[in-house]
Parts: sequence; structure tokens; C-alpha cells
Amino acid sequence: MGVHYMNYRDIDINDYDSVVVGSGFAGSVVARELAERGDARVLIIEKRPHIGGNMYDEKDEAGILVHRYGPHIFHTNNQRVFNYLRQFSGWIGYQHHVLADWYGTYIPVPFNKNSMEMVFGEEKAAHLIDKLIDTFGDERKVTINELRAQDDPELAEIADFVYKNVFLYYTQKQWGLTPEEVDPSVTARVPVFISRDNRYFQDEYQGMPQDGYTVLFENLLDHPSIDVCLNTEAESVFDLEFTDESEDAQLVAIRLHEKPFEGPIIYTGPLDELFLARFGRLPYRSLNFVYETYDEEYHLPCGTVNHTVTDDYTRETEFKHLTCQKSDKTTCMKEYSCAYTDPDTQIPYYAILSEENNAHYARYRKLTESLDNFYPLGRLAEYRYYNMDKIVELALDLSDEILARMPDVIDDGDGDAIEAVREPNEA
Ligand code: FAD
Ligand code: UDP
Repeated sequence: MGVHYMNYRDIDINDYDSVVVGSGFAGSVVARELAERGDARVLIIEKRPHIGGNMYDEKDEAGILVHRYGPHIFHTNNQRVFNYLRQFSGWIGYQHHVLADWYGTYIPVPFNKNSMEMVFGEEKAAHLIDKLIDTFGDERKVTINELRAQDDPELAEIADFVYKNVFLYYTQKQWGLTPEEVDPSVTARVPVFISRDNRYFQDEYQGMPQDGYTVLFENLLDHPSIDVCLNTEAESVFDLEFTDESEDAQLVAIRLHEKPFEGPIIYTGPLDELFLARFGRLPYRSLNFVYETYDEEYHLPCGTVNHTVTDDYTRETEFKHLTCQKSDKTTCMKEYSCAYTDPDTQIPYYAILSEENNAHYARYRKLTESLDNFYPLGRLAEYRYYNMDKIVELALDLSDEILARMPDVIDDGDGDAIEAVREPNEA
């Protein structure tokens, strides 16, 4: 059957039990669950001309499958999440490898025992590795902040090297901030790994959807009770109703087609945009992507090369390593990070986590708390740094919560909802 696309002008809002804003993993998983397990009719409003959010991929002019919003590699330890996604696509068991281009020498990232041998030489590295093992244990992951906090001069030497050659310049390019200035959870994503394991992730389930993410999303949204309106911005069709005229007045209803919509509204866009940035814009980082196609089978030694000490882009990714596509041509993509200043032409990719920004976000979030049927979900709406698997997990959890509240459904917890049997005298 395929995804059912509608023009917003042609819809009758009374036909729907739920409205979802955004068709990334957050919006699409909830839409599918409410339709499938709750028998709900769901309308998805998506401002882009396609489904799939930041996971969207397509073939470029050379026929190479490329990701349009940054390279996306799926990895998780959550079996429920992986089993869920397996229903909508076959998977290629891809393990991601990243090398840092260190003045022309490729060293494994996360920085590990192999990287240490390359930069310190075998003899010195053996001694330093023993020191690391004695201090933290073998096969352990240590954040750069933990390592820098050590007093021992030899550990300080390792910390200093990794800080200067892996984190400092990359972080400055990516965030416009030093590693000390970014939230510690950000650099903790890429710890020093006291191991010979050169993989970027150690999760139990890792891979790529066999035919790409867009096909996965087409299967996820291929349901007779889901309609999708593309090129439609929530702000242009939502009419917000507040308790009063004051700046901090609480949201009491969202009107669609002139009347308050009473079913669940799942919102996965930026919260500041919904409120027309009344408290000022939330800070984000944006990205520019530059693609290049080469007449050669492979151009890079692995999926991604990080430019940690030179160049003005952060990393370069060669999609064929990720997708295992066969071709005598190849396409690579460089990522240039920049400030997010213009919502009309830029995309907010990364929330910039800090106490101040989190408080700024909390002020927006507070406006929504009085509206029972409004659910902010996802990387943008929650102003968080979530990977795809976490989003799918949260979307499944939220679906469980909404389904438990829906009047006509009893969820027996095994993923298949069953219709509630109504007593004859019940309303
Ligand atoms: P999104 O995918 O951003 O979807 C939100 C959707 O809502 C979009 O389609 C948007 O157009 C739509 N929308 C927003 N506002 C409105 C509005 N007002 N009206 C209508 N529609 C609206 N995670 C991993 O697990 N592995 C990776 O390798 C990985 N790589 C990444 C690389 C980059 C460069 C970035 C930025 C992120 C990466 N991620 C990765 C994280 C991943 O992109 C997110 O976890 C995921 O996109 C979150 O899904 P979402 O549905 O919350 O948001
Ligand atoms: N980072 C770095 N050098 C690297 C890799 C990562 O400094 O070679 C830092 C940088 O601050 C980055 C953060 O670690 O933003 C998280 O890296 P990750 O690869 O997880 O970023 P993402 O894939 O989410 O952009």
C-alpha cells in the first residue's frame, strides 16, 4: 500500500484521534504504535518534503546511497528497540570504525591501546598501558575529564596528549567551545578505551538498515490508519490558546480547524519554535554538509575520519563503508559545524547543553505542563542529546503510556493491544 500522503487543505481533522508533529523516529514510532495497538487514526504533520527526520537517505546522482542530515549508524544494547526495528527492515551487521587523521597518520578513535603504540612507540606505550590498567582496570572506558583529573605525571602525559590531539580542536570546531566549556556528557561519549577494540561503539546490536533508513520509515508508516502531510509546519496550522495574555501564561488548548484538538498531540519539533521564540531562541549548533563523488571504489580507509588537529571540517564519512553498497564510484561527506542563527535556512542539529540553556528550555517546557494531551518527545522537543535507539525506546514508552490512557484499548503488554469489551450499559 505504501505511505498515505495527504494535503493538509484536504483533511478533516475530525477523522483523527491523534496528531503527531515530525516524522523522525520519535514521531513515526508513536504514530505506528497508536495506529497499530490503539486502533487510532493518526495524522502526521511534517515540515520537510519527506519523511524520516534526520535519518533520511537517498541515492545521489552517482547512484550512491547518502545520508542527507549527517551519518547515522545504528547501535544499541536495548533488545526491545532492536527487535522492534527489525520488523520494518532487514539489517546489515555493520561495525563502525573511526580514525583520527593525526598529521597524516591514522590513529583509532576512541583513543586506545593501539593508538597509544602509534603515537608513543611500542616500548613507552607498554609502560603507559600498564599504568592505565593498574589505575582503572583493563578493558575500561575512562573519560578525558577523569583522565585529566589524575595527579600521576605519566597519566597526565597521556591525558595531555589526548586532550590536545583528539579533543581540543575538534570540540572547538564542533561547538565553538573548549572541552572544558561543553557539558561533560558530550566528551564522555568518546572515552579513552583501555582496549585493543578499534570499534567506535561496543553495543550488542549494531548495524544499518539493509535498504536504507528511508525504506525503513516507509515501512514504519505504511499503515491504513496513518496519514502524512508533508511541507506542513505545525506553527502554521496550530492555533494556541493560553490561560491569559501574559508571557508565562500556560497553554490550555491547541486548536486545529477552529476547535480544540482533544486527542494526544505528540510534538517532536523544537519547543521554542512552537511558541514563536517568545523567550528568545534556544541555542543549537547547525551543520553544513559538503559531498564529493570520486571515480574510485573507496576513498577513505574506514567509515569516518575525524580531523582532530587540522582542517576546518570536523569529520568526513564515506557512505559505502556504512551501507556495504557495491559501485566503482564512491561519495564522501565533510561536516562543517556552525552557529544556528536562521531557522528559515538552517537546521537545529545539536542542543547546546548547559545550566543556562537547560533553564531556558525549562521555561518553554513549563508552558506546556497544563495541557494534558500534549507530549513533547525527541531530541529537539526535549532539548537533549539522544541517539536513535534512545528515541525509539522513549517513543515506545510514551506509546505504552498513551495507550494505557486510551479508552477503548487494553494493552496486555506483549505488544498486541486487544479491544476492551464494554459492558452493555457503559457509555
Ligand atoms: P528528528 O530526526 O530531528 O525528527 C524531527 C522531525 O520533526 C523532522 O523531520 C523535522 O522536519 C520535523 N519538524 C520539526 N519541527 C517541526 C514543525 N514545527 N512542524 C512540522 N515538522 C517539524 N544517532 C545515532 O544513534 N547514531 C548516529 O550515528 C547518529 N548520528 C547523528 C549525526 C548527526 C549529524 C546528528 C545531528 C545526529 C545524529 N544522531 C545519531 C542522532 C539522531 O539524529 C537523533 O537521535 C534522531 O534524529 C532523533 O529523532 P527525532 O525524531 O527526535 O528528531
Ligand atoms: N570528540 C572530539 N574528538 C573526536 C571525537 C569526538 O573532540 O575525535 C568530542 C566532540 O566534542 C564531540 C563529542 O566528543 O562533539 C561527541 O562525539 P560523537 O562522535 O559522539 O559526536 P556525534 O556523532 O554525536 O556528532
